[in-house]
Amino acid sequence: MANIAFIGLGNMGGPMAANLVKAGHKVTAFDLMEASRAQARADGAGIADSSVAAVKGADVVITMLPAGKHVLSVWNEVIPSMGKGALIIDCSTIDVESAKQAHALAAKHGIGSVDAPVSGGTGGAKGATLTFMCGGEDKAFAAAKPVLENMGKKIVHCGGAGAGQAAKICNNMILGISMIAVGEAFALAEKLGLSHQALFDVASTSSGQCWALTSYCPVPGPVPTSPANNDYKPGFASVLMVKDLTLAQDAATAAGAATPLGKHAQEIYKAFDAAGHGGVDFSGIIQHVRGLAGK
Ligand code: NAD
Repeated sequence: MANIAFIGLGNMGGPMAANLVKAGHKVTAFDLMEASRAQARADGAGIADSSVAAVKGADVVITMLPAGKHVLSVWNEVIPSMGKGALIIDCSTIDVESAKQAHALAAKHGIGSVDAPVSGGTGGAKGATLTFMCGGEDKAFAAAKPVLENMGKKIVHCGGAGAGQAAKICNNMILGISMIAVGEAFALAEKLGLSHQALFDVASTSSGQCWALTSYCPVPGPVPTSPANNDYKPGFASVLMVKDLTLAQDAATAAGAATPLGKHAQEIYKAFDAAGHGGVDFSGIIQHVRGLAGK
Protein backbone atom coordinates (compact mmCIF):
# COMPACT_ATOMS: atom_id res chain seq x y z
CA MET A 1 0.00 0.00 0.00
CA ALA A 2 1.22 3.49 -0.83
CA ASN A 3 1.60 6.79 0.99
CA ILE A 4 -0.64 9.09 -1.05
CA ALA A 5 -1.03 12.88 -0.76
CA PHE A 6 -4.37 14.16 -2.09
CA ILE A 7 -4.81 17.90 -2.75
CA GLY A 8 -8.24 19.29 -3.69
CA LEU A 9 -11.09 17.60 -1.83
CA GLY A 10 -14.15 19.06 -3.58
CA ASN A 11 -17.13 17.30 -5.14
CA MET A 12 -14.82 14.95 -7.04
CA GLY A 13 -11.61 14.86 -5.00
CA GLY A 14 -13.37 14.21 -1.66
CA PRO A 15 -14.95 10.88 -2.65
CA MET A 16 -11.89 9.88 -4.73
CA ALA A 17 -9.63 10.31 -1.68
CA ALA A 18 -12.16 8.34 0.41
CA ASN A 19 -11.91 5.44 -2.06
CA LEU A 20 -8.11 5.41 -1.72
CA VAL A 21 -8.53 5.16 2.07
CA LYS A 22 -11.03 2.29 1.58
CA ALA A 23 -8.49 0.50 -0.63
CA GLY A 24 -6.04 0.53 2.30
CA HIS A 25 -3.69 3.37 1.31
CA LYS A 26 -2.35 5.88 3.83
CA VAL A 27 -3.86 9.14 2.53
CA THR A 28 -2.72 12.58 3.68
CA ALA A 29 -5.06 15.24 2.35
CA PHE A 30 -5.26 19.01 2.01
CA ASP A 31 -7.85 21.51 0.76
CA LEU A 32 -8.20 25.25 1.30
CA MET A 33 -11.76 24.73 2.65
CA GLU A 34 -12.21 23.62 6.26
CA ALA A 35 -15.47 21.79 5.44
CA SER A 36 -13.69 19.64 2.82
CA ARG A 37 -10.86 18.87 5.23
CA ALA A 38 -13.37 17.85 7.91
CA GLN A 39 -15.15 15.49 5.51
CA ALA A 40 -11.83 13.89 4.47
CA ARG A 41 -10.92 13.45 8.14
CA ALA A 42 -14.27 11.72 8.73
CA ASP A 43 -13.53 9.49 5.72
CA GLY A 44 -10.31 8.30 7.35
CA ALA A 45 -7.64 10.49 5.71
CA GLY A 46 -4.91 12.27 7.65
CA ILE A 47 -5.12 16.05 7.25
CA ALA A 48 -2.07 18.23 6.58
CA ASP A 49 -1.73 21.96 7.29
CA SER A 50 -0.66 22.77 3.72
CA SER A 51 -0.09 21.18 0.32
CA VAL A 52 3.65 21.14 0.97
CA ALA A 53 3.17 19.37 4.33
CA ALA A 54 0.85 16.83 2.66
CA VAL A 55 3.44 15.68 0.11
CA LYS A 56 6.29 15.07 2.59
CA GLY A 57 7.14 11.34 2.38
CA ALA A 58 4.44 10.63 -0.22
CA ASP A 59 5.02 7.99 -2.93
CA VAL A 60 2.21 9.45 -5.01
CA VAL A 61 0.71 12.97 -5.08
CA ILE A 62 -2.73 13.51 -6.63
CA THR A 63 -4.28 16.91 -7.43
CA MET A 64 -7.98 17.47 -8.20
CA LEU A 65 -8.40 21.24 -8.65
CA PRO A 66 -10.63 23.67 -10.57
CA ALA A 67 -8.39 24.90 -13.42
CA GLY A 68 -4.90 25.06 -14.96
CA LYS A 69 -3.75 28.04 -12.89
CA HIS A 70 -4.54 26.18 -9.63
CA VAL A 71 -2.73 23.05 -10.82
CA LEU A 72 0.40 24.97 -11.88
CA SER A 73 0.42 26.92 -8.63
CA VAL A 74 0.12 23.76 -6.46
CA TRP A 75 2.61 21.73 -8.56
CA ASN A 76 5.12 24.64 -8.32
CA GLU A 77 4.69 24.63 -4.54
CA VAL A 78 4.89 20.89 -3.90
CA ILE A 79 7.26 19.39 -6.47
CA PRO A 80 10.45 20.72 -4.81
CA SER A 81 9.35 18.97 -1.58
CA MET A 82 8.65 15.59 -3.20
CA GLY A 83 11.07 12.69 -2.76
CA LYS A 84 13.08 11.25 -5.66
CA GLY A 85 11.16 8.42 -7.33
CA ALA A 86 7.77 9.85 -6.32
CA LEU A 87 4.98 10.31 -8.85
CA ILE A 88 2.54 13.19 -9.37
CA ILE A 89 -0.87 12.78 -11.04
CA ASP A 90 -3.31 15.56 -11.93
CA CYS A 91 -6.93 14.43 -12.32
CA SER A 92 -8.41 17.93 -12.87
CA THR A 93 -9.83 18.99 -16.24
CA ILE A 94 -7.46 21.71 -17.47
CA ASP A 95 -6.15 23.22 -20.70
CA VAL A 96 -3.67 21.16 -22.68
CA GLU A 97 -1.02 23.90 -22.54
CA SER A 98 -1.02 24.07 -18.71
CA ALA A 99 -0.93 20.26 -18.54
CA LYS A 100 2.20 20.25 -20.71
CA GLN A 101 3.79 22.97 -18.55
CA ALA A 102 3.02 20.92 -15.43
CA HIS A 103 4.69 17.82 -16.94
CA ALA A 104 7.75 19.91 -17.87
CA LEU A 105 8.00 21.22 -14.31
CA ALA A 106 7.91 17.67 -12.90
CA ALA A 107 10.49 16.47 -15.45
CA LYS A 108 12.83 19.32 -14.45
CA HIS A 109 12.85 17.93 -10.89
CA GLY A 110 13.15 14.27 -11.98
CA ILE A 111 9.58 13.46 -10.88
CA GLY A 112 7.31 11.19 -12.98
CA SER A 113 4.00 12.78 -13.97
CA VAL A 114 0.64 11.88 -15.49
CA ASP A 115 -2.31 14.00 -16.58
CA ALA A 116 -5.38 11.88 -15.83
CA PRO A 117 -8.67 13.76 -16.22
CA VAL A 118 -11.81 11.77 -15.57
CA SER A 119 -15.26 11.18 -16.90
CA GLY A 120 -18.10 9.75 -14.85
CA GLY A 121 -18.98 12.74 -12.65
CA THR A 122 -19.65 12.73 -8.92
CA GLY A 123 -21.50 9.38 -9.13
CA GLY A 124 -18.41 7.80 -10.68
CA ALA A 125 -16.18 9.44 -8.07
CA LYS A 126 -18.30 8.02 -5.22
CA GLY A 127 -18.71 4.59 -6.78
CA ALA A 128 -15.05 4.28 -7.92
CA THR A 129 -16.26 3.77 -11.49
CA LEU A 130 -14.51 6.72 -13.16
CA THR A 131 -12.79 6.52 -16.54
CA PHE A 132 -9.27 7.99 -16.44
CA MET A 133 -7.76 9.37 -19.67
CA CYS A 134 -4.01 9.48 -19.15
CA GLY A 135 -1.10 11.30 -20.72
CA GLY A 136 2.56 10.79 -19.84
CA GLU A 137 5.53 8.50 -20.31
CA ASP A 138 5.03 4.71 -20.20
CA LYS A 139 6.91 4.34 -16.89
CA ALA A 140 4.83 7.04 -15.15
CA PHE A 141 1.60 5.58 -16.53
CA ALA A 142 2.55 2.07 -15.36
CA ALA A 143 3.13 3.44 -11.84
CA ALA A 144 -0.11 5.47 -11.85
CA LYS A 145 -2.41 2.72 -13.14
CA PRO A 146 -2.70 0.57 -9.98
CA VAL A 147 -3.47 3.70 -7.91
CA LEU A 148 -6.09 4.97 -10.36
CA GLU A 149 -7.72 1.51 -10.39
CA ASN A 150 -8.81 2.15 -6.79
CA MET A 151 -10.92 5.09 -8.05
CA GLY A 152 -12.04 3.98 -11.49
CA LYS A 153 -12.96 1.07 -13.69
CA LYS A 154 -11.31 2.08 -16.95
CA ILE A 155 -7.78 3.52 -17.22
CA VAL A 156 -6.67 4.47 -20.74
CA HIS A 157 -3.16 5.53 -21.75
CA CYS A 158 -3.85 8.09 -24.52
CA GLY A 159 -0.25 9.14 -25.28
CA GLY A 160 2.42 11.56 -24.06
CA ALA A 161 2.19 14.72 -21.91
CA GLY A 162 -1.25 16.38 -22.23
CA ALA A 163 -2.84 13.52 -24.22
CA GLY A 164 -5.30 12.75 -21.41
CA GLN A 165 -6.55 16.36 -21.43
CA ALA A 166 -6.77 16.28 -25.24
CA ALA A 167 -8.92 13.12 -25.11
CA LYS A 168 -11.14 14.60 -22.39
CA ILE A 169 -11.98 17.82 -24.25
CA CYS A 170 -12.53 16.03 -27.57
CA ASN A 171 -14.91 13.59 -25.86
CA ASN A 172 -16.80 16.35 -24.08
CA MET A 173 -17.08 18.37 -27.27
CA ILE A 174 -18.86 15.37 -28.84
CA LEU A 175 -21.11 15.17 -25.76
CA GLY A 176 -21.97 18.90 -25.71
CA ILE A 177 -22.83 18.93 -29.41
CA SER A 178 -24.76 15.65 -29.35
CA MET A 179 -26.87 16.68 -26.34
CA ILE A 180 -28.02 19.80 -28.23
CA ALA A 181 -28.80 17.64 -31.29
CA VAL A 182 -30.90 15.24 -29.21
CA GLY A 183 -32.66 18.17 -27.50
CA GLU A 184 -33.46 19.73 -30.87
CA ALA A 185 -34.89 16.44 -32.14
CA PHE A 186 -37.22 16.10 -29.13
CA ALA A 187 -38.26 19.78 -29.41
CA LEU A 188 -39.13 19.24 -33.09
CA ALA A 189 -40.93 15.95 -32.31
CA GLU A 190 -43.09 17.79 -29.74
CA LYS A 191 -44.15 20.34 -32.38
CA LEU A 192 -44.90 17.51 -34.83
CA GLY A 193 -47.09 15.65 -32.32
CA LEU A 194 -44.69 12.73 -31.94
CA SER A 195 -44.45 11.29 -28.42
CA HIS A 196 -41.15 11.25 -26.53
CA GLN A 197 -41.33 7.49 -26.20
CA ALA A 198 -41.96 6.96 -29.92
CA LEU A 199 -38.95 9.07 -30.92
CA PHE A 200 -36.83 7.31 -28.30
CA ASP A 201 -37.90 3.82 -29.42
CA VAL A 202 -37.01 4.62 -33.03
CA ALA A 203 -33.84 6.72 -32.61
CA SER A 204 -32.33 4.53 -29.87
CA THR A 205 -32.27 1.59 -32.28
CA SER A 206 -31.60 3.59 -35.46
CA SER A 207 -28.83 5.75 -36.84
CA GLY A 208 -29.64 8.60 -34.39
CA GLN A 209 -28.47 6.40 -31.50
CA CYS A 210 -25.92 8.05 -29.17
CA TRP A 211 -25.05 8.21 -25.45
CA ALA A 212 -26.87 11.55 -24.94
CA LEU A 213 -30.05 9.79 -26.07
CA THR A 214 -29.77 6.26 -24.68
CA SER A 215 -28.01 6.87 -21.33
CA TYR A 216 -28.88 10.49 -20.56
CA CYS A 217 -32.14 11.18 -22.39
CA PRO A 218 -33.03 14.91 -21.94
CA VAL A 219 -36.80 14.33 -21.58
CA PRO A 220 -38.40 12.52 -18.63
CA GLY A 221 -39.59 8.94 -19.15
CA PRO A 222 -37.55 6.86 -21.56
CA VAL A 223 -34.38 6.60 -19.40
CA PRO A 224 -35.51 6.63 -15.74
CA THR A 225 -32.02 7.41 -14.35
CA SER A 226 -31.46 10.54 -16.48
CA PRO A 227 -31.52 13.97 -14.72
CA ALA A 228 -34.61 14.94 -16.79
CA ASN A 229 -36.57 12.76 -14.34
CA ASN A 230 -35.16 14.71 -11.40
CA ASP A 231 -35.87 18.30 -12.40
CA TYR A 232 -32.51 18.48 -14.23
CA LYS A 233 -30.49 18.41 -11.01
CA PRO A 234 -26.84 17.67 -11.93
CA GLY A 235 -25.30 15.24 -12.85
CA PHE A 236 -23.00 17.40 -14.82
CA ALA A 237 -23.78 21.09 -14.41
CA SER A 238 -24.08 23.30 -17.52
CA VAL A 239 -21.36 25.61 -16.19
CA LEU A 240 -18.91 22.67 -16.32
CA MET A 241 -19.96 22.00 -19.92
CA VAL A 242 -19.20 25.67 -20.71
CA LYS A 243 -15.79 25.16 -19.11
CA ASP A 244 -14.99 22.05 -21.17
CA LEU A 245 -16.28 23.52 -24.46
CA THR A 246 -14.19 26.64 -23.82
CA LEU A 247 -11.09 24.47 -23.24
CA ALA A 248 -11.90 22.70 -26.53
CA GLN A 249 -12.22 26.04 -28.36
CA ASP A 250 -8.95 27.31 -26.87
CA ALA A 251 -7.19 24.12 -27.95
CA ALA A 252 -8.76 24.29 -31.43
CA THR A 253 -7.61 27.89 -31.87
CA ALA A 254 -4.10 27.10 -30.67
CA ALA A 255 -3.85 24.00 -32.90
CA GLY A 256 -5.51 25.57 -35.96
CA ALA A 257 -8.39 23.02 -36.02
CA ALA A 258 -11.83 23.92 -37.41
CA THR A 259 -14.58 23.07 -34.91
CA PRO A 260 -17.64 25.10 -36.03
CA LEU A 261 -20.21 22.97 -34.18
CA GLY A 262 -18.07 22.94 -31.04
CA LYS A 263 -18.00 26.75 -31.21
CA HIS A 264 -21.75 26.99 -31.68
CA ALA A 265 -22.35 24.53 -28.83
CA GLN A 266 -20.13 26.67 -26.57
CA GLU A 267 -22.21 29.77 -27.45
CA ILE A 268 -25.48 27.95 -26.74
CA TYR A 269 -24.38 26.65 -23.32
CA LYS A 270 -22.90 30.09 -22.49
CA ALA A 271 -26.28 31.71 -23.20
CA PHE A 272 -28.00 29.11 -20.96
CA ASP A 273 -25.47 29.84 -18.22
CA ALA A 274 -25.84 33.63 -18.64
CA ALA A 275 -29.63 33.23 -18.22
CA GLY A 276 -28.94 31.87 -14.71
CA HIS A 277 -29.02 28.14 -15.47
CA GLY A 278 -25.35 27.27 -14.94
CA GLY A 279 -26.27 24.97 -12.05
CA VAL A 280 -28.83 23.05 -14.12
CA ASP A 281 -27.73 19.70 -15.58
CA PHE A 282 -26.39 20.16 -19.12
CA SER A 283 -29.21 18.01 -20.53
CA GLY A 284 -31.52 20.89 -19.47
CA ILE A 285 -30.25 22.63 -22.61
CA ILE A 286 -33.44 21.25 -24.22
CA GLN A 287 -35.36 23.94 -22.28
CA HIS A 288 -33.19 26.62 -23.87
CA VAL A 289 -33.68 25.07 -27.31
CA ARG A 290 -37.49 25.05 -26.85
CA GLY A 291 -37.27 28.70 -25.78
CA LEU A 292 -35.63 29.65 -29.08
CA ALA A 293 -38.77 28.66 -31.02
CA GLY A 294 -40.22 31.59 -32.93
CA LYS A 295 -37.28 33.88 -32.09
P1 NAD B 1 -14.77 21.62 -6.67
O1 NAD B 1 -14.80 23.08 -6.89
O2 NAD B 1 -15.90 20.96 -5.95
O3 NAD B 1 -13.40 21.20 -5.92
C1 NAD B 1 -12.17 21.83 -6.11
C2 NAD B 1 -11.48 21.89 -4.75
O4 NAD B 1 -10.17 22.40 -4.91
C3 NAD B 1 -12.20 22.83 -3.77
O5 NAD B 1 -12.55 22.11 -2.61
C4 NAD B 1 -11.16 23.92 -3.49
O6 NAD B 1 -11.20 24.42 -2.17
C5 NAD B 1 -9.87 23.18 -3.77
N1 NAD B 1 -8.73 24.05 -4.06
C6 NAD B 1 -8.66 25.08 -4.94
N2 NAD B 1 -7.42 25.62 -4.92
C7 NAD B 1 -6.71 24.91 -4.02
C8 NAD B 1 -5.37 24.99 -3.55
N3 NAD B 1 -4.52 25.91 -3.99
N4 NAD B 1 -4.97 24.11 -2.60
C9 NAD B 1 -5.82 23.17 -2.12
N5 NAD B 1 -7.11 23.05 -2.52
C10 NAD B 1 -7.54 23.91 -3.46
O7 NAD B 1 -14.59 20.96 -8.13
P2 NAD B 1 -14.91 19.44 -8.56
O8 NAD B 1 -16.32 19.34 -9.05
O9 NAD B 1 -14.41 18.52 -7.50
O10 NAD B 1 -14.00 19.35 -9.87
C11 NAD B 1 -12.58 19.20 -9.78
C12 NAD B 1 -12.04 19.05 -11.20
O11 NAD B 1 -12.64 17.89 -11.82
C13 NAD B 1 -12.34 20.24 -12.12
O12 NAD B 1 -11.22 20.44 -12.95
C14 NAD B 1 -13.55 19.75 -12.93
O13 NAD B 1 -13.63 20.36 -14.21
C15 NAD B 1 -13.25 18.27 -13.05
N6 NAD B 1 -14.44 17.41 -13.24
C16 NAD B 1 -15.57 17.61 -12.50
C17 NAD B 1 -16.68 16.79 -12.70
C18 NAD B 1 -17.95 16.98 -11.90
O14 NAD B 1 -18.97 16.39 -12.27
N7 NAD B 1 -17.93 17.75 -10.81
C19 NAD B 1 -16.62 15.76 -13.65
C20 NAD B 1 -15.44 15.55 -14.36
C21 NAD B 1 -14.34 16.39 -14.14
